[in-house]
Amino acid sequence: MASSRDSKIVSKLEAWFEHNGKDYPWRQTTDPYAILVSEIMLQQTQITTVLERGYYSGWMKKFPTFAALAAASEDDVLKAWEGLGYYRRARNLQKLAQAVIGQHAGQFPSDTAAMRALPGVGPYTAGAVASFAFDLAAPLVDGNVARVLSRLNNDATPVDTPQAQKQLWQTANNLVLLAGSPRRFNSALMELGQTHCRPEKPACLLCPIKAHCTADNPESLPKKSKRIALTEVIESAVLSVKDGAILLEQETGPRRTGLWRLPRVETVPTGWERVTTLTYGITRYKVRMTVFRPTTPLPPAEHQRYIPFSHLPTVALASPYKKALNLLL
Ligand code: SF4
Repeated sequence: MASSRDSKIVSKLEAWFEHNGKDYPWRQTTDPYAILVSEIMLQQTQITTVLERGYYSGWMKKFPTFAALAAASEDDVLKAWEGLGYYRRARNLQKLAQAVIGQHAGQFPSDTAAMRALPGVGPYTAGAVASFAFDLAAPLVDGNVARVLSRLNNDATPVDTPQAQKQLWQTANNLVLLAGSPRRFNSALMELGQTHCRPEKPACLLCPIKAHCTADNPESLPKKSKRIALTEVIESAVLSVKDGAILLEQETGPRRTGLWRLPRVETVPTGWERVTTLTYGITRYKVRMTVFRPTTPLPPAEHQRYIPFSHLPTVALASPYKKALNLLL
């Protein structure tokens, strides 16, 4: 049931956002496609990276509609995503575009149940598109929103538990139902988490809903139940160069299918020269990769090819290998 506290929180946040909301490109449109692209890009990438390095604008220029993305080659899609990491997001976005073309004649549905039936659309994405594109009273909870709501209610239940998730979604739903504009309210809630209610040193003195916040020690919230330890992985890669071309291998595993990388070797023969060692993180792995130069160029094995240096800018490379090649060539 709606309380007067809830109503005040909603109206104050909406009023605050009206004057202080940032003018991101995806807030200047109600096109579900443009909003989806921003949401998927921002899932594991900072806003500044997406904006300042031109990923969002470049993508929208290259694939401006569901139809353009659905018809693109996988190579082009991966190339446009290069550097953002978590390439599964790009592939899933293309699958989603193909489903919108195939099942909805290119029109993204406005009903959240129909949205959720599309591949890769979970409760957060459905809430984002429903509210930002269609101004529907649909809740959304991401990391920023979870932090704001946990603090607002001084709730120390670990946010990664089903119990806390259920409560957070319920609270977000209760609030968005009171909004004058769900689009504005959900944007405000997310923005408060990014600007004022940040993980460290929250700006409580400037917070528009401070009067309703019950957090005793905001910085200690939200709680998490477990930490996943990073697993260390050691790998060896080969730098084989022949006639102005470099030996690369196309990934076939589920995570980075289609991307190119330096070939891996299980054992390093004696005589190979150690060129460099790089460390990179991927999901819960910390990988230490040492690159070796063979005594003579290797013949290409399955899924491997010599690619001329001049073609490298057009090849989609996984970030760690792009970094390695920039360094080595
Ligand atoms: S008062 Fe502080 S802790 Fe509470 S919602 Fe505002 S910024 Fe977050």
